[in-house]
Amino acid sequence: MTARSGPTEGALSRWLRGDLADRARYADMHTRFRNAQPIGALVGGTTLLVSWWHGPELVGLVVLGGLTMIGGVRLHSRLPHAEAIGAVAFLLLELNAAAAVLLSGGATSPLLPLMAVPVFSQAVAFRLPLFVTGMLTSMVLAVLAVVLAPPAVPAPDWLHVVAYLALLGCLALAGHWLLSADLHSRDEAVVDPMTGLYNRVTLNARFDDLQRRAADAGTCVGLVMLDVDHFKQINDEHGHDRGDLVLQELADRLRRELRVSDIAYRIGGEEFVVLLPGRDASGTLQVAERLRRAVQGEPLSDLPVTLSAGVVSGVGGIDSLADLLRAADGALYRAKRGGRNQVVAAEPVPGSPRQPVPGAHT
Ligand code: GH3
Ligand code: MG
Ligand code: MG
Repeated sequence: MTARSGPTEGALSRWLRGDLADRARYADMHTRFRNAQPIGALVGGTTLLVSWWHGPELVGLVVLGGLTMIGGVRLHSRLPHAEAIGAVAFLLLELNAAAAVLLSGGATSPLLPLMAVPVFSQAVAFRLPLFVTGMLTSMVLAVLAVVLAPPAVPAPDWLHVVAYLALLGCLALAGHWLLSADLHSRDEAVVDPMTGLYNRVTLNARFDDLQRRAADAGTCVGLVMLDVDHFKQINDEHGHDRGDLVLQELADRLRRELRVSDIAYRIGGEEFVVLLPGRDASGTLQVAERLRRAVQGEPLSDLPVTLSAGVVSGVGGIDSLADLLRAADGALYRAKRGGRNQVVAAEPVPGSPRQPVPGAHT
């Protein structure tokens, strides 16, 4: 197969590689399976046991299978077109497994069910046409191995049990890696890795949900926009790492002060938004004031830190997130202009039935 992409590339190579999205998915799946040695050990160990029972001819196949896996992993990182290398390695492993089944009794071989392992672990790596081709190939090879196998003494029951346990271990490991990595990447998409708070993406989704519920129930959604005062100075005087610590401790402090249903989001460097379901303007102001005091009252990473906040409360079904963010941002700006370390309520959005908050800075 050619190492360069372009018009001269073969049709087979293009078909194996798929488009950019297919390649990105393949690379992701390959990362998830980079520590697949336990799977190799389970399959290889069982084949050796079967070899011990039927005859030593399978030992060579175990060695070949091991070399295929090692070679595939090495070539992955050195050559372009990793998906094509993965597909070829998959085919070689299935041929190897079929040969082992053929030599160890065909239908009575304890190795027959293990042919499912490479198919299962590649299920989500390759796009559908390629995966289905691989699965059909594996099925055809299994049937051929069964049909062409010379008569053999059936393996004892305990060897079938060992093979079943190996199969169970392989599928459980492969399933676990697929699922846990999926959850991890989903987390990465919605959670800010430094503070563990939700990010902007989640804010939009959560607001839509709250907005719908608030419209149904005729209630409000409170929004607080928080910004650390003179944070640049903290970085300049104590270093960026210390600044990061301050942000992490601030996130913990916000979590500690908020009810479970009141969630904080990190929307920028040192900027946060808190959504407060069911809070009207004065309730939102109270929460913001409590957060401000909680931060002022106790140092973060041993440094005195203060917050400024702009608050607003939207009427369910009327104000959009963009409207509320704009209003809160305006109020925050006035909190900064007013000397920082304070909470300011937004002006009512024109046309909105929201009322000014008594007692708040405006
Ligand atoms: P103000 O009171 O007006 O908000 O002043 P400020 O210094 O907080 O605001 P400014 O926007 O000037 O500076 C924000 C700083 O936050 C600048 C940027 O380097 C820093 N910053 C942004 N993200 C991070 C981060 O993840 N970690 C650290 N340590 N600093 C960050
Ligand atoms: Mg800022
Ligand atoms: Mg700031």
